[in-house]
Amino acid sequence: MPNECRAAVITGFNKPLEVQKVPIPDLEPKAMLAKVEAATLCGTDVHRWHGANVQPGIMPFIPGHETCGIIEEMNGPRTDLLGSPLKKGDRVLWSYPSCGRCYWCTIARQPSICPEIMYWGCNHSNEYPYLLGGCAEYQYVPPPSDVIKVPDEVPSPLAAAAACAYRTVMHGFERLGVIAPHETVLVQGSGPLGLFAIAVARDKSAYRVLNIGAPADRVKVASDLGADATLNLDDVPDPQHRIQWVKDHTDGRGADIVIQCATHDAVPEGVAMVRKGGRYLSIGAGGSGKAAVPVNIMSQHISFISVLIAEPRHWLQAVRFLATRQDLKWEGMISKSYTLDQTSQAFEDMAAFRIVKPVIYPHQR
Ligand SMILES: [Zn+2]
Ligand SMILES: [Zn+2]
Repeated sequence: MPNECRAAVITGFNKPLEVQKVPIPDLEPKAMLAKVEAATLCGTDVHRWHGANVQPGIMPFIPGHETCGIIEEMNGPRTDLLGSPLKKGDRVLWSYPSCGRCYWCTIARQPSICPEIMYWGCNHSNEYPYLLGGCAEYQYVPPPSDVIKVPDEVPSPLAAAAACAYRTVMHGFERLGVIAPHETVLVQGSGPLGLFAIAVARDKSAYRVLNIGAPADRVKVASDLGADATLNLDDVPDPQHRIQWVKDHTDGRGADIVIQCATHDAVPEGVAMVRKGGRYLSIGAGGSGKAAVPVNIMSQHISFISVLIAEPRHWLQAVRFLATRQDLKWEGMISKSYTLDQTSQAFEDMAAFRIVKPVIYPHQR
């Protein structure tokens, strides 16, 4: 193995990324090194590049927390999440490790909100173990991570997207509970979260799945993945008209279930689209921070559910869903590929909503 590799590094907010040589670390016992097959970008990567949701003094860091990799090295025997042995050459994802000792890990059993949970894509690239982001030729897999093998049927870019967007959607549906066959689900947003949520809601026997999103090419993918009716935000700028559209599709009641897959700013409008007594699931993060939930939620008997990250089984659920729903039109989910040297362009395209999800192939030139 060489002792360093190439990585796209963020050195300043909104600045073009720099491709730098970063050390390949020695492996702690039970740690692994993964050769990055595909790194997809998530909205959170763009928010961090813009300076939102990051710790002060974060620079420099390697972005990317949706990585599908191939095990290159292991320091001692390891098993995957299901207990089967891992070996060099396995194609894998790996979860965010939580501490296993705190109130949330041990008593509440909600490890995704452990205060000490580790994240990828926001760690110093000049401190050991250096390689904790996907936009690099290699990524370090710390010993406490649960490792999930990727089924052969799942292409690496889709598997990578399962490492954040899709597993969070799976966690959200788990928290939402059963969808009855008479229930109409409205999905707010037609980015990666929203599109995957449409596919899962359709799969869970919802009566109808509605989508409000933008721009037009993403809304087209929403239809391809099973949305029964779509509304392009760009065509209907008045929120009151959008609320009326939902009522028109639900006998005047509003949707039984609304799933927010946009940003927090979409919550007030979305809550107004839920029927009395319905459920609201908020998945999308980010936004201006100014969204205020309307007071009338108090008298509407609405269940409000939010979700943060996911637990290791949701990584598994997401890749297994992809592996067993081969008949769905997944090809619209990953819209453009980039080399490591083009990572800045990928960020710009994602920030401008020009694409659904970019994939970076760090070993392609
Ligand atoms: Zn913990
Ligand atoms: Zn993410």
